[in-house]
Amino acid sequence: MSNAPKKFWRLGILGWPLGYSLSPLVHEQALKTAGLRGEYREYPVKPEDLWDWLGQVPALRLCGFNVTMPYKKSVFAWLVGEGEGRLGLAEVPEGAIGAINTVVMDNKERPVGYNTDGEGFLRPLLDPPRSLDLKGWHVLLLGAGGAAEAISVSLSVRTKVERLTIWNRNLDRARALAETANRWRGGRGAAHFAQVGERLESLPVGECQLLVNATPVGMDGPGERLVDSGKLHQGQWVYDLVYGPRETALIRAARRQGCRVITGDEMLAGQGAASFELWTGVKGMLPVMREALDEHFRSH
Ligand code: NAP
Repeated sequence: MSNAPKKFWRLGILGWPLGYSLSPLVHEQALKTAGLRGEYREYPVKPEDLWDWLGQVPALRLCGFNVTMPYKKSVFAWLVGEGEGRLGLAEVPEGAIGAINTVVMDNKERPVGYNTDGEGFLRPLLDPPRSLDLKGWHVLLLGAGGAAEAISVSLSVRTKVERLTIWNRNLDRARALAETANRWRGGRGAAHFAQVGERLESLPVGECQLLVNATPVGMDGPGERLVDSGKLHQGQWVYDLVYGPRETALIRAARRQGCRVITGDEMLAGQGAASFELWTGVKGMLPVMREALDEHFRSH
């Protein structure tokens, strides 16, 4: 038997602010369950310090890290060699989107970027027990940030969703994302797949089959939500990416209107398990992460 010390998995999450994140909880539990030595630390980095921090990544000797709000696009820019703090060594796998939520340090200590948000988003919809077939659906997506980009690309490539309406506070970003989604969809009719909903008041809230909140609205206030939930009705699905609180104002309103709901912790476990597998090669951590989150919400 080898006397070499077991590898220490030094992992973490980069974002600002970070106090709300449950990623440390799920990854620490996965490390423990997989029998790996390691840690998962928070790296709350202010925007003015981001490029310095990225420049110091090799010195931190991380095996990998997650990226969350508001840095998914900045880290993509860093990886492709833009931005002040670039390493110039980085790689982005072919087919990567313009937002990164997982960085893996390869065996030459070079950062490689991935995005597991799309996978994490789709699993609760497509996997059992829901096993939904989204064919012909109209999806209304609120937000055009990093998570919204991953979701749009996954919906356009991996599902038969027919229409995607994107609303964002900054309309130019919504337009750019709609173009991206149409490019990824490709083929006939691609130009009409994604479109922009310009005004919150006239969004097709009552007409879509699935409404997705990919903004942080709902994290702060008990009454905070973007759309008029009175337009929601039975038979629709509502998916809120926000998981703190688990029962956001949108989710509560959707339940009252008879909609079926998916809360953000389900996606958190899905994207977390996919990131964990990219770093460590260990599969099957989804149920472990879901159980850790259930336990957390039972006691909070
Ligand atoms: P991001 O790249 O920083 O994008 C944030 C998005 O939210 C942008 O579209 C932004 O609009 C919009 N936004 C921010 N504040 C807003 C407000 N007060 N009103 C309306 N829109 C607002 O962040 P992200 O990574 O996409 O994350 C978005 C949300 O999803 C966060 O709450 C994050 O925690 C959550 N998330 C959850 C999971 C999960 O696993 N459950 C995974 C990823 C993300 P502008 O473009 O106009 O600024």
